[in-house]
Amino acid sequence: MKGSNDTASDSAESFACVWRVMDGRRTAKIRKKLLAWYAVEARDLPWRNTRDPYAILVSEFMLQQTRVQTALGYYGRFLERFPSLEALAKAEIDDVLKAWEGLGYYRRAHNLHRTAQVLLREHDGRLPKSVSELRGLPGIGPYTAGAIASIAFGLDEPVLDGNVVRVLSRLFAVPGAPGRAETRNRLLREAQRLASGGTAAALNQALMDLGARVCLPRSPRCHECPVASACDAHHTGREVEFPQKRKKGPIPRVVGAAGIIWDKEPFSSDAKLLIAKRKADDMLGGLWEFPGGRVEDGESHEEALIRELREELAIEVEVIEPFLQVDHAYTHFRVTLHFFHCRHTGGEPVAIECDEWRWVGVSELDRFAFPTADRKVLEELEVQQG
Ligand code: SF4
Repeated sequence: MKGSNDTASDSAESFACVWRVMDGRRTAKIRKKLLAWYAVEARDLPWRNTRDPYAILVSEFMLQQTRVQTALGYYGRFLERFPSLEALAKAEIDDVLKAWEGLGYYRRAHNLHRTAQVLLREHDGRLPKSVSELRGLPGIGPYTAGAIASIAFGLDEPVLDGNVVRVLSRLFAVPGAPGRAETRNRLLREAQRLASGGTAAALNQALMDLGARVCLPRSPRCHECPVASACDAHHTGREVEFPQKRKKGPIPRVVGAAGIIWDKEPFSSDAKLLIAKRKADDMLGGLWEFPGGRVEDGESHEEALIRELREELAIEVEVIEPFLQVDHAYTHFRVTLHFFHCRHTGGEPVAIECDEWRWVGVSELDRFAFPTADRKVLEELEVQQG
């Protein structure tokens, strides 16, 4: 005969069982609706028209922290320039950076290049299929590994990018900021449950597209959403409360000064400019720039520039006049750079805080890969050169 404790535990188990079945049905319903919607509404993107794992690898590196629209401007040209994994692996990093110029987050270009070299050397030029092996490659984190495994190899692997996080947070009203491990794990479990039965490639991309086109950050178009009837946030009118936010501090602002350093009269016919290559391990590593650095408290822009050029290249300059001010926002800080025309007055440059330096004519500058802020200087120099 059962005691009261046995009866209570039986009831709890039956309840859990019923709950699991209901949950499973709900997941299946959401999956079915998402796949049906994606079959009709999928965005026509060039990397979706290929099963070539190398092309998918390139697209996934480009899409890390970059909008689809921006990546579209680079993807085709990059593959024309480096049509195979072998071509990329054997290319000079300067050429890879040049093809990546303007796309930002240059660490990705270094990692993609290194990944191609590792694959050629250790994997016979092929991408491994398993997420764990993919994650062992330079620059491949959980998102990129899941995207490659599901899209290129059809494995049931979940992905969590910004769009997917937003959709899942709302669909399941997931509490807590997605940056917290607990929240992330819950989102990953929901993504994993949806991406099953051989559907992950389409399902993952359906979630991405839904986030990009319907489940928008500030004004979700719930009336167009295929899963509105199953969405917890929508049922309670709390769509924009998810994903929940973590309080952020103010974004720091850095002020810098940089020199357009001429060896002769600026813009005279055979005048050359000094450019320096950033250290490979630094932010924007491997890119060329007009040398300079941070303005410290209590320094004028000109004083900071003279000091930085002594520290970075061991040269002396005379600051002639201000040239251009450029404001640029990076992920975690903003920078205001003050560029000055300068004349080189002494010292053979030494690569102390850079990897390399060169004197080049204005017309040659375009051959080198520069960060966005310096490219604005290039454009202005070319205009003034006439
Ligand atoms: Fe997003 Fe609205 Fe769809 Fe919910 S119903 S997933 S909030 S668009």
